Amino acid sequence: MKDRPRVLVVEDEPAIAELIAVNLRHAGFEPVCVEDGEAAQRELDAVLPDVILLDWMLPGASGLQLARRWRADARSRPVPILMLTARGDEPDKVAGLDAGADDYITKPFSTQELLARIRAVLRRRAPEQLRDSVAIGELQLDAATHRVSWQGEPIRLGPTEFRLLHYLMKHAERVHSRQQLLDKVWGDHVFIEERTVDVHVKRLREALGPASGMVETVRGAGYRLTAARSRPRHD
Ligand code: CA
Repeated sequence: MKDRPRVLVVEDEPAIAELIAVNLRHAGFEPVCVEDGEAAQRELDAVLPDVILLDWMLPGASGLQLARRWRADARSRPVPILMLTARGDEPDKVAGLDAGADDYITKPFSTQELLARIRAVLRRRAPEQLRDSVAIGELQLDAATHRVSWQGEPIRLGPTEFRLLHYLMKHAERVHSRQQLLDKVWGDHVFIEERTVDVHVKRLREALGPASGMVETVRGAGYRLTAARSRPRHD
């Protein structure tokens, strides 16, 4: 099961930070509060959050400067940023979005609005990872709960095998080259060799047991998930 989404809250006003943290925790998120850009940077260097709530007016570097810096950095680039600002005028909104924020919200805001915006940026970031389930033959995968089953029996997979199976199931009956799988499943894979795909396919097949035949090797082309071999053979 996926951990609670981690939210880095960069806000120097303790009362507001506390209020946000309480609401986030209550809504199933894991908030981490810091008061300025330096502390935020240390936190980012240690653990990448799922989303950043970034106040505009901060001591030291402003939210705008931080957003620009984090967008320029390859490691933090994929993390969605939601700017918090007391200003509501259009030029500031544009400046915030230009600096790389994904959305912004004006203080004072309601908890419901804040949660809705956070969920929206998370959905946009990972359209294929949230809350969908897919079934091919008797193989079922539920992305929301991270569960896979075959004929109703649970199958345990590591995170990479899970993502690989998810991708193959969502694009079943098609052949995917190793390079395509690296692009789609691994994403940031500059230092990953194509052979890595074979290693994970092997692990996936081992975990699938009687359903392993569904993952076919297509000689010279790559891999395909097919429903045609979803019946266990009784040799
Ligand atoms: Ca502030």
